[in-house]
Amino acid sequence: MYFHGEWLGKGTIIGQKYVCGYCGTETSSSGGYNFQQRNEKFGFYEQVAFILICTSCNFPTFLTEDYTLQVPQPKMVANVENLPPPLAILLNETRKAISAELYNSTVLLCRKMLMNLAVLEGADKNKSFVYYVDYLERHDFITAKMKPWVDRIRQIGNTATHEIPDISKEDAYMSFEFLIMLLKLVYEFPHKMQPK
Ligand SMILES: [Zn+2]
Repeated sequence: MYFHGEWLGKGTIIGQKYVCGYCGTETSSSGGYNFQQRNEKFGFYEQVAFILICTSCNFPTFLTEDYTLQVPQPKMVANVENLPPPLAILLNETRKAISAELYNSTVLLCRKMLMNLAVLEGADKNKSFVYYVDYLERHDFITAKMKPWVDRIRQIGNTATHEIPDISKEDAYMSFEFLIMLLKLVYEFPHKMQPK
């Protein structure tokens, strides 16, 4: 992407909604900087990009008028309550990876989390990824209806470590969604039902 134009001074920008990559607020910035480009054919200036200042955290985001580029990208908000500390740290890292479109890293982190989860739930250490997936299945952490997901996760997990082809965005999102579901089932929901 290449623009030829100029930045104007700080001004009012109305109606550019976006999700802030720093604080996660869905915001419509009240102010920021306009980038204008001269339309050679008709001679007028058009808005092509902005630097928007978040109304909540005051940090700047670069956004093109057509929304094809936003820097920084919003982080995937997928919070799981009551996670054991090692998994909470890994989830934070995984969220950053998927938000930054680092799909191989995302899948590797999901794989690592799944293995950690299994060990925390009683599986042996230093086993293969497939062993851990089987363990979770055998011990009913994964229901029968989730079987097609599990088969796919097994495949994706192996691809990320052993083969050259890149992990697709779909595979990364699928691994991430599966992991969030698993973490919620194992840590968040049982905790919610405990007497207070
Ligand atoms: Zn913000």
